[in-house]
Amino acid sequence: MSVLDMRDVRKVYRSGDADIIALDHATLQVDHGEIVALLGPSGSGKTTLLSIAGGLLHATDGAVEVDGRDITHLSPSELTDFRRSSVGFVFQTVNLVPFLTARENLLVVNELGGRRNRNGSRARARADQLLEALGLADRAGNLPSQLSGGQRQRVAIGRALMNDPELLLFDEPTSALDPELGDQVVHLIREEMK
Ligand code: ADP
Ligand code: MG
Repeated sequence: MSVLDMRDVRKVYRSGDADIIALDHATLQVDHGEIVALLGPSGSGKTTLLSIAGGLLHATDGAVEVDGRDITHLSPSELTDFRRSSVGFVFQTVNLVPFLTARENLLVVNELGGRRNRNGSRARARADQLLEALGLADRAGNLPSQLSGGQRQRVAIGRALMNDPELLLFDEPTSALDPELGDQVVHLIREEMK
């Protein structure tokens, strides 16, 4: 069974009089443990596709299953639950809680609950392990405003990994990083997949 199964997905944005067809019968299967990179020019629908896979946007048409579960007909509260428990999302523009430290930004994920809700000390151990792996151990106590863009990006990746989601979605996670850091991030993602 695929972790992600999208079939004939269409997305039409209505903007004024014009319809913008962002996805036109997109079909994609991703297996457990598989890493897929979507390449395409700006405007080709990458963010739209990821947002639909992660339950942030509704498809206009088509079928979307995550881990065998049809997510196209979930209610808003079921969708919130699904996102919290099954998906890790790293956006192109990093969205950290500004008044929480790097470490707290990871721990808050656990407090929101999820597939693998840990008790306090296990959550802290997991957060510290990720911060270490991301080269952020000595920045754990910094606020986002006290971090570089690349460091913030890595905190966001750690946050996405915190609850071991079935499906991890990254929207250009390395585009703001220099090549060496980009390689490190990809390496970390591969390690986490094992
Ligand atoms: P990419 O991530 O590959 O750059 P997007 O998924 O962001 O592509 O966009 C695909 C197409 O949909 C583009 O033509 C974009 O202008 C359009 N689009 C994206 N979001 C919206 C929106 N909220 N309203 C109208 N059009 C949108
Ligand atoms: Mg995009």
